[in-house]
Amino acid sequence: TMQIFMPLNFLGFVYREIRSSLANIENLFNLLAKQSAIITTTSNKLSVTEGKIEFKQLGFYYRADRAILQDVSFVIEPGQKVAVVGESGAGKSTLVKLLFRFYDVSQGEILIDGQDIRSVDPHSLRRAIGIVPQDTVLFNDSIFENIRYGRPEASDSEVQQAIELAHLNDFIQSLPDGHNTQVGERGLKLSGGEKQRVAIARTILKRPPIMVFDEATSSLDSQSEQAILNALREIAQGHTSLVIAHRLSTVVDADKIVVMGQGRILEQGTHSQLLALNGAYAALWHTQQRSHSQNTVLDNTHG
Ligand code: ATP
Repeated sequence: TMQIFMPLNFLGFVYREIRSSLANIENLFNLLAKQSAIITTTSNKLSVTEGKIEFKQLGFYYRADRAILQDVSFVIEPGQKVAVVGESGAGKSTLVKLLFRFYDVSQGEILIDGQDIRSVDPHSLRRAIGIVPQDTVLFNDSIFENIRYGRPEASDSEVQQAIELAHLNDFIQSLPDGHNTQVGERGLKLSGGEKQRVAIARTILKRPPIMVFDEATSSLDSQSEQAILNALREIAQGHTSLVIAHRLSTVVDADKIVVMGQGRILEQGTHSQLLALNGAYAALWHTQQRSHSQNTVLDNTHG
């Protein structure tokens, strides 16, 4: 049963929050996750045993006259890393929104360890999934507390360990006040790559069985990029992960790459299988090779 009992001033808060953080899905999901009234609740908890995710013949429409996703099927086996690539507007972020039940599928189903995600309590679903968004919100607090936000009850030594795994230690040591350096709107502004590593450290602390990484489209210097790739490998260990990728360097080691175009899957396979196919993925790869740059973004049409 659907229950709506939120006070109007809270709705006003949600509205302002959504407006101010449209790009930040993590924040939005956290906000929605706190409000059980927004989505139908069931007491069935998601039980993640292995971490297998199945996207089965998904169809999704915001409006009946335009399909955003059509017949999208792929599987992420337990512990695998699957990357989704494709032109801007292909539907990559929509997949993540559906996985979090920000929206429900119009056709087909998403199963986690055999459970249709519509049949489980959304809180338990969101607790099982950690997301590293493109743009991370930093609070007006120290960098250390910003990382602890991943799991507020974590001890100092657990936070420190996450900092090391996220390859943030040298960076934090170089700050004027080290761990106590104030960040956020009123403090030090971090670069895109540094913010993504803060998000990775938060996710390491949260230790979710399933990980979603929405790679920032802005180009990074190769040192930041390498630090992010190393940190990603750390958190992906033993976790099922879905990566929305814009750079080839992020996808070459994936167990599977799903290539999307106009809401459909064009190809799927490993890097070498897709190169051998000589289709859409190979074309993206050759475009990148021609540009002679490690940092070229796959979808150059993106803002
Ligand atoms: P990018 O690489 O640019 O992030 P993407 O592959 O992630 O793109 P999506 O963000 O999933 O693409 O968008 C897929 C399509 O859905 C786009 O055509 C977009 O315009 C459309 N879309 C996204 N959000 C909405 C919405 N709230 N209402 C209607 N259409 C939407």
